[in-house]
Amino acid sequence: MAVVFETEGLSLLQEALEAMGQGFQTLPEVGNALDSDGVRSILLSVAGRMQENYPYFHPLYVGQMLKPPHPVARLAYALAMFINPNNHALDGGRASSEMEKEAVAQIAAMFGWSSSLGHLTSGGTMANFEALWIARELAPGKAVAASAQAHYTHSRLSAVLGVPFRKIASDERGRMDIGDLREQLQTGEIGTVVATLGTTAAGTIDPLPEILELRNEFPFRLHVDSAYGGYFTLASNLGSHARAAYDAIANVDSIVIDPHKHGLQPYGCGCVLFREASVGRFYKHDSPYTYFTSEELHLGEISLECSRAGASAVALWATMKLLPLDRNGSFARSLEKCREGALQLHDQLQAGKRFVPLFQPELDILVWGVRAHTASESSRLAREVFTEAEKSQLYLALATFPRKMVEPAGVVSNWDREDLVCLRACVMKPEHLDWMPEILKRLEASL
Ligand SMILES: *Cc1c(COP(=O)(O)O)cnc(C)c1O
Repeated sequence: MAVVFETEGLSLLQEALEAMGQGFQTLPEVGNALDSDGVRSILLSVAGRMQENYPYFHPLYVGQMLKPPHPVARLAYALAMFINPNNHALDGGRASSEMEKEAVAQIAAMFGWSSSLGHLTSGGTMANFEALWIARELAPGKAVAASAQAHYTHSRLSAVLGVPFRKIASDERGRMDIGDLREQLQTGEIGTVVATLGTTAAGTIDPLPEILELRNEFPFRLHVDSAYGGYFTLASNLGSHARAAYDAIANVDSIVIDPHKHGLQPYGCGCVLFREASVGRFYKHDSPYTYFTSEELHLGEISLECSRAGASAVALWATMKLLPLDRNGSFARSLEKCREGALQLHDQLQAGKRFVPLFQPELDILVWGVRAHTASESSRLAREVFTEAEKSQLYLALATFPRKMVEPAGVVSNWDREDLVCLRACVMKPEHLDWMPEILKRLEASL
């Protein structure tokens, strides 16, 4: 049986397109014929090519950080595409620039900021790049520090920026080791610390309150990379460690969050926020090419990227209209369900014999090893389970963790290598909760 994609929205799109056209009715008409035979055959061949993907949209896909956009995001994006606005300057995207400012202000308000500066980016990498660039401008010559479990982008971006990078140890829970951070801060070489709320591999949360406390002793800038985990500040079912970190977030200097990860957006939507709007001065430029024609703020004046998809802002704005960032709203509830699903998976695996979760998930990402005598044998079995699961159309991910993070769980008794290949699930879809019995069944069967 073929998967049936949601197409009801297409008639809504048609209606909205007609409504949008009304606004331009004073223009003389232009023909817009479509070579439908040519387009049709190409579209069908695209449909064929796209079948070569894993079914990211399906609840049996529980591998990498992939979450389908909300239908309202898809439709609003498609609607905006007929205008194709560019949020570089107001002249290129008048309405969509306003929508971007409104959407970004709502995200900032979610973190407790009311007068911050921020904008959308093409993704988390670019958003982090801007945050580290501003940090470098404020403290030239100083190093950027991030934990061993931080996204690799931070060391690479530091290299691009010509800034020294310091790797801070992670503890057995995959959280930044405060003792090591303190020691490295004592060198006086660190200008910026990156705290990750929701590490990419294991979804762990750096101890933000403790990091903030170190600012009483050492002067450093604090950037939070919550590209993955940012929206979880809305969830009411976090553990106390994670809750405390989110509750402290308003005290940092900059934050990154990816609406294209947990914010139900198509790819191409990251966001960077700065607590102090005054950092906008570093973006100043006087390009003769840019078509700035008004005194109002053009987003191109506070963004490193020039052309940016206005459609991304439109889709995000529309999604937040339908699903506001409220603590007790249905969007928050959907994140809570993801976390519930991950906790359920954790408890079920814990109760069995062969799979051993490394620790309770802090968000909705679970990592577990396969019980075996040696680390090599366990790693080999994890790869095998991964492959077998895929044969039964259960799509998982693999991740390698250092011995330190695995040892306390007692997955293996003989460490013949210093790391372990583990299985990993990103329980990112609220539907995963209802599908958990089926997911578990297929997982057990693949052993
Ligand atoms: C995904 C991710 C990034 C990179 O963001 P992209 O949107 O993939 O460019 C950076 N940091 C963390 C913590 C992430 O999860």
